[in-house]
Amino acid sequence: MTNFALAIHGGCGVMAKLDLTDEEWKAARRDLGRALEAGYAVLKAGGKAIDAVQAAVVVMEDSPHFNAGHGAAMNENGIHELDASIMDGTTLAAGAVCAAQHIRNPIKAARAVLEHNDAVLLAGAAADRFAEAKGLAVEEQSYFTTERRKQALASMKAHAEAGTLAAARESEKHGTVGAVALDQHGHLAAATSTGGYTNKPDGRVGDSPIIGAGTYARDGVCAVSGTGKGEFFIRHVVGHEIAARIAYLGEDVKAAATKVIMEDLKPHNIGAGLVAVGADGSVAAPYNTDGMFRGWVTNDGEFFVASHDEVFRYEP
Ligand code: ASP
Repeated sequence: MTNFALAIHGGCGVMAKLDLTDEEWKAARRDLGRALEAGYAVLKAGGKAIDAVQAAVVVMEDSPHFNAGHGAAMNENGIHELDASIMDGTTLAAGAVCAAQHIRNPIKAARAVLEHNDAVLLAGAAADRFAEAKGLAVEEQSYFTTERRKQALASMKAHAEAGTLAAARESEKHGTVGAVALDQHGHLAAATSTGGYTNKPDGRVGDSPIIGAGTYARDGVCAVSGTGKGEFFIRHVVGHEIAARIAYLGEDVKAAATKVIMEDLKPHNIGAGLVAVGADGSVAAPYNTDGMFRGWVTNDGEFFVASHDEVFRYEP
C-alpha cells in the first residue's frame, strides 16, 4: 500500500484532567478527529501534503478548544495577535503571518503568502490587509475571544502580580495547533497556527511563524510543527535542529524529536511538544508536559486522538 501519514497537535497547554468535564474532553477530541479527517481526505485522494496540513489546521483554528483562530490566547492588552506558517518540503517554499489581528484563518493567509508573495513573512496590519486583499475572511477581535481565554488572561495577570507565575497551569499559559504530513508522492509539509501565550507582551512574535523554529519541512528528511514556549524553539531552531539530526546523524524521527524535547528544551523548565513525520511516514509526538492534544492516522485509515497518556480510537 502507498505510504502516507498525517499527525496533528492541538498544543501542549492541555488542561489537567479534572479541569474539564467528560463532555468537554469528548468535544475537544472530536474536533481533533475532524481535523484528522480533513487532512486524511486530501491524502487519501492523492492530494498534496501541503493541502492536507492546511485543511487540518483550519479545522482546529475554527474550534474553540485550541489556541489558534477562534479561541486564541490574548496578549497583555487583551488583544489577539495571531501567528501562523506553512512550509512545502518539496520546494522549501514557505509563507507566514505574524501579529495579525483580524484574519479568521491565519493558516490560509500564510498559504497565500507562500503562493502570491515574494516575502516569506508578513507582519501585523499589513498581514491583515494582505489577507483581505486576497479575499480571505477577516473578523472583529471579538470573533477570536472565548470565556476560557478571558479567564486565562485574568489568571495570568493575577499570577504576575503575585509573583507566582511558576505556579500557573500550562493550559493558562499557552497552546498552538499544527499538522505534519507525508503524501502519496513522497512529499512532506508542515503547518502551525497560534495565538501565542496568554499575557504575552504587545507585539511579541513566537516561533510558530518562524520557519526552522516552530515549523519546518524538507522532503527526504522530515516535517515538524512545535508547541511550547516559543522563545526556546527559536533559540534552539527546533524544526531545523530535528531535520539536521536526521540528515547529518542518521537518527530516526523519534530519536531526533525526543532528544530535542527531552534533552535540549526540558532543562529550561518550559512546556514543549511537537509532532514530526519522517520521509518513511514514521510519526513522533513527544511532549514534556502533562499532556498534549494530538492525533494521527495510520496508513490503513485508523484514527487516534489523545490529550494525556490514554489514546482513543476516533471513528470518522
Ligand atoms: N509556541 C507558541 C508561541 O510561543 C505557544 C505555544 O505553543 O504554547 O507562540
